[in-house]
Amino acid sequence: MAAKTKDYYSTLGVKRTAGPEEIRKAFRKLARKYHPDVNPNDKRSEEKFKEISEANDVLSDEKKRKIYDQLGFYSDNIDPAAAEAAARGGGGFGGFAGRGGFPGGGAGGGRGAREVPFDFGGFDFSGFQEGGRGRGGAPEPASGGGFRDVFSGLFSGGQKAQKGPQAGTDLEYQVSVDFWTAVRGGLVKLEIQGQEVCPACKGKSTAGGSVECPECHGSGQVTQMGGRMKFNIQCPRCGGTGKVQNDCATCEGEGVLTRRGPLEFRIKAGTRDGQRIRLAGKGNAGTDGGPAGDLFLIVKAGTHPVFTRVGDDIHVTVPVTVMEAALGAKIDVPTIDTHDSRGARDGGGRTQLKIPPGTQSGQKLRLREKGVASASREGVRGDEIVEVKIVVPKVQDERSKEILRELAKLNPEDPRAEMLREV
Ligand SMILES: [Zn+2]
Ligand SMILES: [Zn+2]
Repeated sequence: MAAKTKDYYSTLGVKRTAGPEEIRKAFRKLARKYHPDVNPNDKRSEEKFKEISEANDVLSDEKKRKIYDQLGFYSDNIDPAAAEAAARGGGGFGGFAGRGGFPGGGAGGGRGAREVPFDFGGFDFSGFQEGGRGRGGAPEPASGGGFRDVFSGLFSGGQKAQKGPQAGTDLEYQVSVDFWTAVRGGLVKLEIQGQEVCPACKGKSTAGGSVECPECHGSGQVTQMGGRMKFNIQCPRCGGTGKVQNDCATCEGEGVLTRRGPLEFRIKAGTRDGQRIRLAGKGNAGTDGGPAGDLFLIVKAGTHPVFTRVGDDIHVTVPVTVMEAALGAKIDVPTIDTHDSRGARDGGGRTQLKIPPGTQSGQKLRLREKGVASASREGVRGDEIVEVKIVVPKVQDERSKEILRELAKLNPEDPRAEMLREV
C-alpha cells in the first residue's frame, strides 16, 4: 500500500522558497482558523489541522525540510546524511553522479522529474537487497554495490518509541462576568469541552494484545514515492513489526474522550477585565497516567452605565450646578458600596462629597478607598475619582435673568482674555 506523497508547501500556502518566518506565519494563521478549540466537533477542520501541523512540523525544522526538499517526502526513519548523499547522486550512483541526481523535491511525479536523465518510474529498490552491507550513508568506492549502499542508509529504521504517559494539553476559555461579579467576586458557571480519561481503558488506549497493522497489512513495509522513484520503507505505523496495539474501542485508541460539561468556580473580588485565571489540572486529561493540563479562563468583565473601572479605581462623572460649583456645596455622589440593608448584591450606594467653592468643570476629586478591593493585594482598595461636569441652568423666568445680568455686571472679567492675548 503506497503512502501518498504530500505537498507541504501548498498545504501551508507558501512558495518553496519561503523563509522560516513566512512558514511560521502561514502556519499560525491557518492554525488559528482550524484549531479544534475554535471548531468543536468539526471533523474536517480537525483533519485540516492535522495536515497543517504535519506540514509545519517538517517545514519548520531545517533538517526535516532539507530531507523533504531532497526526496519529496519525509520520514523519521531517514538518515539525513544518506538523504544528502542520495540527493547529490553520491558515489554509489556511478555513472549518474553529477547529472542531476535525484528528482528534486517535487510533490509527486511530474514536476520534480525535469532534471532527471533516466526514468525511474516504477522502479522498486527492494530488489537490491542482496549483497548489502548494513547502514551508513557513504558507500565505499569501487564496491560495485550501487543502489543498496546508498539506500541502506536512507532508512535507518528503528521502531517508533511507544507513547507511554503523555501530559494533557491546556484549555483556554473566555468567561463573561457582569460588572458587579467582577467587583465583588462570585460564583461563575460555564460549559466547557475537554478531554477526560477514557473510562474503558483507563487512559491506556489499548484493549490488550495486538492486531495486524492496517497501514501495511502485516507486511511491515510500505511503498513511498520519492520524486518518480519508489522506495520500500519500514512501515511508520507499526515500525516494521506488522502489528499494532489493539485499540480500545471506546476511545478509538486515544486514551481520552471528548466531553462537554458544566464548570463552576468562584472568582475573587476585584477581578479585572482580561485577567487570566489558572485552574491547575482542569485542562485535558493525560494518557496512560500522564498528568492533566491546566484550564485557563480569561475574564471578560461587563461595564456599568455609571461607573467605569480603571484598574482598581472607579471613575464617575457627576453633574454639578453653576451655583454649587461657584459657592461650594455638599452633594451626594454614587459609590460602589452598597448601603442597601436588604443585602442586594447588585447595585451601589452613595456618599457625601464636598465641592469646594470655585470648582471648575472637568476638575477631578478623589474619594480615597472608595474604589474596588484589590484581587492581588489583601486589604488594599482603589479610589473613586469624581469628575465634575458643570451644568448650566435653563433660565426661563424674568427674575432669574435679571439676577444673572446683575451677576455679570458684578463679575466683568473676561474668561477668554488670557487666551486671546496669546494669539
Ligand atoms: Zn479507551
Ligand atoms: Zn505496518
